[in-house]
Amino acid sequence: MSVTTSSAIAVSEIRVVIEAECSRCGPLSAHESASLGNIDAALAHTAQTGHVVILNGTVDRCDEE
Ligand SMILES: [Zn+2]
Repeated sequence: MSVTTSSAIAVSEIRVVIEAECSRCGPLSAHESASLGNIDAALAHTAQTGHVVILNGTVDRCDEE
């Protein structure tokens, strides 16, 4: 039996935007512009400070204004 399951997003115009905001320090920004960089920044910030960081994720289409 060969069952293939994939949840990968193959549509190129879909983008994922992750915003990280500390409940004490305000918005966090990663050095790189990649959305996943914000997750790393949030993890690092929490690890270093113990602060609570809120992740706000958005999925939208690049071709919509
Ligand atoms: Zn903080």
